[in-house]
Amino acid sequence: MTKKRYKVETSCPQCGCSAVSHLSTEEIRERYGDVPNVEMECGECMIKYEAEMKTACPEWDAACRMKE
Ligand SMILES: [Zn+2]
Repeated sequence: MTKKRYKVETSCPQCGCSAVSHLSTEEIRERYGDVPNVEMECGECMIKYEAEMKTACPEWDAACRMKE
């Protein structure tokens, strides 16, 4: 069985550069939990910003909702 990977994609509101990470179920749960907003830090301009989970990773957002 292959491990499920979730793609989390966000883009910085200031410089527009995008960040993509591929996280396993355990990693995404540990890092973000079930919250509707994720906190990101831009690798380019270093500002912190919030992104909506349903935009950043619709798959995980849906998986969170399904467990309830
Ligand atoms: Zn930026």
